Amino acid sequence: MNDFSYKIYRYLLKRLIQHGYGFQTFESYLDNPLPKAVLIRHDIDLFASCAVPFIRIEKEMGVKASYYFRIINGTFKPDVLKEVVASGHELGYHYEDLARNAGDLERAKSDFTLNLDKFRQFYPVRTVCMHGSSGSHVDNRDMWKTYSFKDFGLLGEPYISLDFNDVLYLSDTSKRWNGSTIALRDKVESQYAFSFTTTWDIINNIPKLPDHIMLTIHPEYWADSFWGRAAVNAFVITHSMYKKYYRNRRSMRKAANK
Ligand SMILES: [Zn+2]
Repeated sequence: MNDFSYKIYRYLLKRLIQHGYGFQTFESYLDNPLPKAVLIRHDIDLFASCAVPFIRIEKEMGVKASYYFRIINGTFKPDVLKEVVASGHELGYHYEDLARNAGDLERAKSDFTLNLDKFRQFYPVRTVCMHGSSGSHVDNRDMWKTYSFKDFGLLGEPYISLDFNDVLYLSDTSKRWNGSTIALRDKVESQYAFSFTTTWDIINNIPKLPDHIMLTIHPEYWADSFWGRAAVNAFVITHSMYKKYYRNRRSMRKAANK
């Protein structure tokens, strides 16, 4: 079974179910957490179509997940957004308004409001999740130092509303489960010391995992066919180089300013 394939994803879900985990959306977790739950979070960064296999696999397996889409042309695709909602999943906004406005809070607020409303045409969105914006020096979450997401009728933001000392955070960033060293902002403070590389590492350790887990999956990293996987690998390499370039540039700038 290839790693980061739909096949292994199905198997991971199956094993989690067998070990007694329930699956709930982030909003339903905030409302009423199950005693043992996995919160699947999908960040849709580039292509809405990549989300479709996940929407269908989860529906078929009776699993609910939360889907966060960016507002860009490649991801804001009404057909896919409708399928997310029709399949019983949660729809949310993968926001980046502060970075897109180079840190201008007023403009970020007005864009955020407009963009959130666009998603609310499809679903009564109650949660949002930041996009890492690795090409920007701006952290999108800084909006919440000035504004409160409650003012936008929102219930939560994973990076702000969850305590990752309680909820184990697992993310497939850079097509490995311990890629937080590469990620610029997709990382959290946590007491947990799990370090998984492959999906098999997770599957084999399910009995040791805590009761609450957020599993972040970027659909662009997953594929079944040979060519699909080749495309993903090319994308992962390019994207990691891009992130490394920006990280180096930033640390050089910081050093120069000292
Ligand atoms: Zn993202």
